[in-house]
Amino acid sequence: MPAHKIYLSPPHMTGLEERLVAEAFATNWISPVGPHVDAFEREFAAVVGAPHAAALSSGTAALHLALRLVGVQPGDNVFVSTLTFIASVSPIIYLGGTPVFIDSEPRSWNMDPTLLAAALDTHARAGKLPRAVVVVHLYGQSADLDPILATCERYGVAVVEDAAEALGATYHGRAPGTFGRVGIYSFNGNKIITSGGGGMLVSKDEELVAHARKLATQARDPAPHYQHSEIGYNYRLSNVLAAIGRGQLRVLGDRVAARRRNFAFYVDALGELAGLAFMPQAPWGLATRWLTCLTIDPAEFGADREEVRQALEAAGIEARPVWKPMHLQPALAHLDRFGGWVAEDLFGNGLCLPSGSSLAAPDLERVVDVIRRTPRRNRAAATALLAQ
Ligand SMILES: *Cc1c(COP(=O)(O)O)cnc(C)c1O
Repeated sequence: MPAHKIYLSPPHMTGLEERLVAEAFATNWISPVGPHVDAFEREFAAVVGAPHAAALSSGTAALHLALRLVGVQPGDNVFVSTLTFIASVSPIIYLGGTPVFIDSEPRSWNMDPTLLAAALDTHARAGKLPRAVVVVHLYGQSADLDPILATCERYGVAVVEDAAEALGATYHGRAPGTFGRVGIYSFNGNKIITSGGGGMLVSKDEELVAHARKLATQARDPAPHYQHSEIGYNYRLSNVLAAIGRGQLRVLGDRVAARRRNFAFYVDALGELAGLAFMPQAPWGLATRWLTCLTIDPAEFGADREEVRQALEAAGIEARPVWKPMHLQPALAHLDRFGGWVAEDLFGNGLCLPSGSSLAAPDLERVVDVIRRTPRRNRAAATALLAQ
């Protein structure tokens, strides 16, 4: 019997979600309004320590609203991490803005604060400061927010945090996503907790969050008839999905612990091998290890990233290259950037291993076993042994 497929980061339900969804059915709140939506916002805000939160249909929708609410308009520049998922960037383009890409620093893989300062200086001199900086917290780890916030404050530029991958992480004890003017999170199926699709926008600014809720429900004015003074979107989270999200939120701590245990297992089993280097945990906080990522030096390890990934694939194990930088994307390659080599290197050699919180020990053993057997010298030794 072939072994079951091991996925990168599958959903992991507790059973509680079904009870809460049943409650939504029983009370007939099957729409983007309802008690679960309100409760999810309250409970989420409490968990991350944000004063206000709006539940939305996706992290991408949340970022779209965040950028609109900090005033991004056609023709504006918006700085954004180059090493990220496309959803950090597309909303800039929805609004007619122009993304400018900023490279990573090696110690966190996130936006390099020194390079950001240089980029802001260059743009200030040219009289084209960006409207906002989108700081991404990648793979469960916070960017170095203190210097980024200080620099942006000096230039009067709004900080929008894309914390879609970093729910449960900390930066000096607080949740990334709650430092900037607006922060966003995602509950897509592969994230650390999921609502089966959804997102959250948080801010200290109560009016901004209220405006986000209004824009997310077609921007209806408070009138009994349908009246609109501005154009909105259909971006509100459904009450049924909010029920799933509430159930998941209660086990966030367990999910973080499980992902960190996966990481520790991989480090323990593979850390001694020459040519493998795990994504570092920067000194400023806790990384959730949403995904366990490592880089592979092909000369030292004896196999490159693609050989390892393909060997895993052949064994029914899903692994993925680290995000392809935005400045290398065919749709975006014409845009300006500052640096890019750190991100290119991480993309060239970086691999994300199966990291789900429901992975069992035999699954992790299977992954480790395939990786150990991938270097050419090991394959040669195995072939020699067979030929004897
Ligand atoms: C998943 C993700 C998003 C988008 O979230 P969706 O809920 O899938 O729209 C945005 N940014 C990053 C970095 C992500 O990983």
